[in-house]
This record gives sequence, structure tokens and C-alpha cells, in this order.
Amino acid sequence: MERKVGIIGAGISGLLACKYTLSKGYTPVVFESRSSIGGVWTKTLETTKLQTPKPIFQFSDFPWPSSVVEDFPSHSQVLDYLQSYAHHFGLLRHIKFNSKVLSIAYEGPPEEEMQAWELWGGAGDPFGSKGKWNLTVNDTHNLSTEVYIYIYDHISYFIYILAYFSADLCDFSPCSSTC
Ligand SMILES: Cc1cc2nc3c(=O)[nH]c(=O)nc-3n(C[C@H](O)[C@H](O)[C@H](O)COP(=O)(O)OP(=O)(O)OC[C@H]3O[C@@H](n4cnc5c(N)ncnc54)[C@H](O)[C@@H]3O)c2cc1C
Repeated sequence: MERKVGIIGAGISGLLACKYTLSKGYTPVVFESRSSIGGVWTKTLETTKLQTPKPIFQFSDFPWPSSVVEDFPSHSQVLDYLQSYAHHFGLLRHIKFNSKVLSIAYEGPPEEEMQAWELWGGAGDPFGSKGKWNLTVNDTHNLSTEVYIYIYDHISYFIYILAYFSADLCDFSPCSSTC
């Protein structure tokens, strides 16, 4: 059975989550409200550079290209690096762009039943079969206020990428359905 994992945000954290869920044999679905990857690095002041020295701001399995000689690359070099990472590991096809998640609600077994579980998923496996996720997503591409609702009864859990700088979330409490 295909085992899907929902991920919100295609910044560095979401890209990593996507890459590692793939490497574990799962199928990630990344919801990104913007039309591109990179998160904060897509919109910074023109003069912004990395403040962390390059060697310690690096994916462990994907070094900076030799063409980047600066110790503190510019924001566009950082963005290029992130895009190369996403291309290299085939992440783009797993990303739903222009998809802003407004709310998530889990509809599963009764609260009392879940409270009684000693292990996650009821059986020690995060991929249970009893629940479903209802997502309210805004199509930001059309600038519409219309929302559409995905019902994912095959996504078993979510990774929230709640970045301090660009999190734009409404209500992600487990049992909530409103925004
Ligand atoms: C100007 C600046 C300079 C920085 N310099 C450094 C540095 O030198 N060293 C360092 O270690 N860190 C630095 N940082 C910290 C930076 O936050 C991290 O480097 C990193 O980019 C964070 O990645 P992220 O994926 O966690 O978050 P983000 O890059 O913020 O990505 C979050 C993504 O989630 C998306 N998103 C948010 N809400 C929703 C929603 N409801 N639905 C769908 N998608 C959504 C956003 O559009 C975004 O693409 C800097 C930050 C800034 C702003």
C-alpha cells in the first residue's frame, strides 16, 4: 500500500522532509503556498547574504558547487543551491505549488479510543488505516478567496513546517476544522 505523508512548506525544512520521506519509501505531498521553492530565500533584500559560513550551512549529502567560492554566498546563490538540491533529488514533482493550507482536521476514531492507545497509530505504526485528514486549501495562483477541500484518507500523518519567518497558518489544531 502506498504510504503518503503530507508536508506543509517547501522551504529548506520541507525539502528535507520531502527528501527523507522519499528515501524511506513513503510518498510525500508537499503543499506550498507560493509558486516556487526556497521559502525565506525567495524574497529578501537584494543585499542579503548568508550569515552562517557556507560549510556549516550545507546539506550533508549535497555540497555547495565549486563555482560558489564565497564564504557567505548571496541570497540568490542560496536559492540556486536549494533549487539544485530539489532537482537533484527529484523533489519538485511532489510539490503542490500555489496551495496554501488554511486548516487541517483529523477525522479518526473516537477520542476515547485514541486516548487508550499505548502506541502511535493504535498498533505502533504511524500509518494507521482508521482516520482521514480534511484539508482546506486556498489556490493562491488564481488569487481567489475560494477554498477547496481535499479529503485525504490515505495520508497517514502530517509534518508541519512552522517556520518562524514565513509561516502563514490559520488553525492546525488536531481536531479543528475552521480557519
Ligand atoms: C533574511 C534571512 C536571513 C537568514 N540567514 C540565515 C543564515 O545565515 N543562517 C541560518 O542558519 N539561517 C538563516 N535564516 C533562517 C532561515 O529561516 C533558514 O535558513 C531556513 O531558510 C528556514 O527554512 P524553513 O523551511 O524552515 O522555513 P521557510 O524558508 O520560511 O519556508 C517555509 C515555507 O512554508 C510555506 N508556507 C507557510 N505557510 C504555509 C501554508 N499555510 N500553506 C502552504 N505553505 C506554507 C512558505 O511559503 C515557505 O515556502 C535566515 C532567515 C532570513 C529571513
